[in-house]
Amino acid sequence: MTKLALSLGATVLMLGCASSPMPEWNSIFSARPAATTPPSPQPSRPAIVAQTVPQAIAVAPLPEVKVSPVAPPPPATPMPLQDQPLPYSAAVASRFPPPPITYSTPGLQGGRNTYTSQSEIQAWLRAQATAAGGVPGLAAAVIPAGTSQRGETIEALVLARATGTDPAALLANGRPTVFLVGQQHGNEPAGSEALLVMSRELAQGLLRSLLDRINVVIVPRANPDGASADRRETANGVDMNRDHLLLNTPEAQALAKLTRDYHPTVAIDAHEYTVAGRFLEKFGTVQKFDALLQYATTANLPEFLTKASEEWYRRPLVAALKTQGLSTEWYYTTSSDLADKKISMGGTLADTGRNVEGLKNAVSLLVETRGVGIGRLHIQRRVHTQVAAMTNVLNSTAQRASELSQLRPYIDKEVAGLACRNAAVVEAGPTPAQYELTMLDPVTGADKTLVVNWDSALALQTIKTRARPCGYWLSASSSTAVERLRLQGVQVQRLAEAGSVLGDNYRETSRTVSERQDVRGTIADGNNKAVKVEVGLARGLIEVPRGSYYVPLNQPLGNLVIAALEPDTQSSFFANQLIDDLKNTARVMAPPAFRLEDLP
Ligand SMILES: [Zn+2]
Repeated sequence: MTKLALSLGATVLMLGCASSPMPEWNSIFSARPAATTPPSPQPSRPAIVAQTVPQAIAVAPLPEVKVSPVAPPPPATPMPLQDQPLPYSAAVASRFPPPPITYSTPGLQGGRNTYTSQSEIQAWLRAQATAAGGVPGLAAAVIPAGTSQRGETIEALVLARATGTDPAALLANGRPTVFLVGQQHGNEPAGSEALLVMSRELAQGLLRSLLDRINVVIVPRANPDGASADRRETANGVDMNRDHLLLNTPEAQALAKLTRDYHPTVAIDAHEYTVAGRFLEKFGTVQKFDALLQYATTANLPEFLTKASEEWYRRPLVAALKTQGLSTEWYYTTSSDLADKKISMGGTLADTGRNVEGLKNAVSLLVETRGVGIGRLHIQRRVHTQVAAMTNVLNSTAQRASELSQLRPYIDKEVAGLACRNAAVVEAGPTPAQYELTMLDPVTGADKTLVVNWDSALALQTIKTRARPCGYWLSASSSTAVERLRLQGVQVQRLAEAGSVLGDNYRETSRTVSERQDVRGTIADGNNKAVKVEVGLARGLIEVPRGSYYVPLNQPLGNLVIAALEPDTQSSFFANQLIDDLKNTARVMAPPAFRLEDLP
């Protein structure tokens, strides 16, 4: 065990004593010079923040992305270039030359104009499981995670040096598990194709040795219905990447079950972003960056989780991509309202996969390549960028495996230890700033740097805080809410006897009903609308009947529970009718004295 690990072990032991001060991050995890410059703008004043490539982290240099040799693709009959409508000038296109490697998934074969089909993905994953399963000590399986609304099976490839591919076998080997998800948005194909490449390289190629240090669970295509229709949403018109707290769609439920069962330490969510479209209309520009990156940025995240995300993951990732000639920026987007020239980093609400995985105490990374609205243009480079990014994150995890194996239980315990005392942020938002953002001239392809109004998600502004309860009481009729919480992995108990407890009832003081909004505009949410209430709290003794529920906060997912059950936010269970009346919930402000039983 290294000196660093011993130091952390001692700190974790000390944490058991409530009076111990919070340890300093750098004294625990890094003998290297402290990274003193936060990447975020100051909360109090707008500032121009140039993108930097920090040097505080010294990790072993990442080799160039290499993939195993494959049979050459069948003779291509590509559409003549002059027949392909370019979404922007040839000068812009020339800034994105093909990568040094040609990737060869079914959907990337020459002459194809469709991406890898669902049945081709299924066959591909099975071939990888078969190849890896023949290696002594390696466990591999394709497991069904759920069924899409149109009946497609959402599948995951599990690869590990373990006695099996079930969650217990992976947890038993002590290695961090990385959860990789592609194509939640059906019109963003590069992540899916890249995950097929990653599957093959991990199962039988040049990345297999990583399985000596890490486990992987790979879902190449989380939204097969959207993919087959080439559209963002699921079949019922829901943006599933805003459904990770509510879990209304079977697609989001499938991912939640995998997270609940496999407890990933790291989660990667692969997307693509709009390159021209509304940016061209608003700013007269085309977007430049090969990859936009962001980790979880929502209220109540443990400080060390954010530090690990920044120092152990994002910085080495930016550096590695730069080495390979790939450009990066923080993830940003802009609303569909053409009069609104604000640029926003990825949202701060507890609804995206990125933020909800963070609330489950995983290092959670969003990787977006420049792909929406440009068809198959630059597809090899987009896939290459995703493969390079994912490879770097897996390498970082392998290098940090020992530290991560201590960080995760430390954070789990820290979150649980906050119950009944301290404050909880109920609502937080981004901080307005200004930012120098480089885009491209759509004609000349030259860099065009603008100073934009920029909502930073790195510095959160607290909008509403409350005392952190010991837990939440839910009425016996709250079975839907209980089912969704348990799907997230939250421990819910049932009252084995009637009792009373000191608590806060919610009193509604105002209400509006409207479509949910995020930084892009209105969230695609089927026909659902959110009930946004303002509430007051009424402290008193609350009578709680036998058969009703108690959700303790002294558990690792305590912050996720707060996001779900404080009712007066857009993302909450109450706002979205998973709890239909404020009378069915209360904040429990003292340790309950009544007898509780675990649910079957
Ligand atoms: Zn997306």
